[in-house]
Amino acid sequence: MPMSFSNLSLAEPLARAVAEMGYESMTPIQAQAIPVVLTGKDVMGAAQTGTGKTAAFSLPLLQRLLKHENTSTSPARHPVRALVLLPTRELADQVAQQVKLYAKHTNLRSAVVFGGIDMKPQTAELKKGVEVLVATPGRLLDHIEAKNAVLNQVEYVVLDEADRMLDIGFLPDLQRILSYLPKQRTTLLFSATFSPEIKRLANSYLQDPITIEVARPNQEASTVEQHFYSVPDEEKRHALKQIVRQRGLKQAFVFVNSKLGCARLARSLEREGMNTTALHGDKSQDERLKALAAFKAGEVDLLVATDVAARGLDIKDVPAVFNFDVPFNAEDYVHRIGRTGRAGQSGLAVTFVSPSDTRLVGDIEKLLKRKIELEALEFDEDRPRGRINDGRRAWREAGEVGDPRDVLDAPRERAREPERAPRQPQREYRAPAAPRDPFFDQPYQASSAEAAPAWEAGVKPATSRVSTNIKPKRKVAALFKAE
Ligand code: AMP
Repeated sequence: MPMSFSNLSLAEPLARAVAEMGYESMTPIQAQAIPVVLTGKDVMGAAQTGTGKTAAFSLPLLQRLLKHENTSTSPARHPVRALVLLPTRELADQVAQQVKLYAKHTNLRSAVVFGGIDMKPQTAELKKGVEVLVATPGRLLDHIEAKNAVLNQVEYVVLDEADRMLDIGFLPDLQRILSYLPKQRTTLLFSATFSPEIKRLANSYLQDPITIEVARPNQEASTVEQHFYSVPDEEKRHALKQIVRQRGLKQAFVFVNSKLGCARLARSLEREGMNTTALHGDKSQDERLKALAAFKAGEVDLLVATDVAARGLDIKDVPAVFNFDVPFNAEDYVHRIGRTGRAGQSGLAVTFVSPSDTRLVGDIEKLLKRKIELEALEFDEDRPRGRINDGRRAWREAGEVGDPRDVLDAPRERAREPERAPRQPQREYRAPAAPRDPFFDQPYQASSAEAAPAWEAGVKPATSRVSTNIKPKRKVAALFKAE
């Protein structure tokens, strides 16, 4: 039974803002978290972007800060009372925009600071005084060190997308920031998953937190048909096109692990006549939103994306999701396939597994608590062979590959965002594990014997080729049953 916002007795300016947003009832995370945050207790919330979690923490925080509301022009009357930390500038920007909308009928001020842009306008805003500060960790530390931000009156801190912050290597920055805050405060931690690292973080910084878990958006859908196909790297692109064609898919989301791979794949699919757009960390927010709008309007068939770029974007109800690369983090598998099979619609999630992905598939098995059967793909006979290998070799020779930061989207996001002021010594940067593409460490290999042309094998060309170890196709209906 959906709960209405009127059950909360929100202050009139907040209730009015919510009504203007057109929200009719609370989302599950809001129904559970808002009453708890209103009591001032610490919260550990398992919720992803898209569940309405921003309002779930912003509304009660603003309500509790209303007692400090004032119209004084003196900066001293507007100290930072609530701090919201997020991993990327896009997420920080989105959250800050929402906070501004919820607070628009109050006299509470909010601001956002993130790296990659000039510090001066941010400094000017901070100097005027803000009650709610939304920030990425590195840039916030720069402002703290420059004495633009004083945090000794913070009453609430929100660690949003905490798992992502740890993935990116923000733990030391978070620890430093938290050391500047008063011990007496309310701490809210939101994370898509409660990994052991997140639990450790919560144990260190939260006091008797109330745990709130809401169903993942795809948890009830349970209609995602999942396939894991054993496909060598050089066959993946053909496999993708073949499945799109065979299934008559009008649109699909294609996930890759690297920015370089993302741009490259989108380019080659586009060259082969598929209407494709790339979405990765080097694209501006404006470009990402345009790509997304084009996809939603049906002008683009394939959206090739990295996890970082896709995070926080409202993309759901896609008929199919392809994991062109097995994700480095098993949790990302769940996020990725959650884009399809929503709201009772059936969805397709296809993962291409190359021989070097065994460990990553093992991680997904552990998370899903079930065994994953690898299937062989029946290839059409007309596929080109070895071309991608040759192309990759050419790229390598052209020196396009080599900067390890190109491999993952997240570190470049961090590296590109000059969160540190230039005069600051570089804080230690922790690179994520296993970013290298093993292809480049191997000698060139021709396509397998199985792929030998039919005339060489002296057999009549068949319309399709079935591997001897093919398994019948299976429909995996119930996702996360064990949870
Ligand atoms: P979030 O998970 O906070 O990023 O929110 C995702 C989207 O849901 C945002 O566009 C919000 O404006 C929207 N939203 C949040 N709460 C509600 C609600 N109760 N009803 C309808 N939409 C909402």
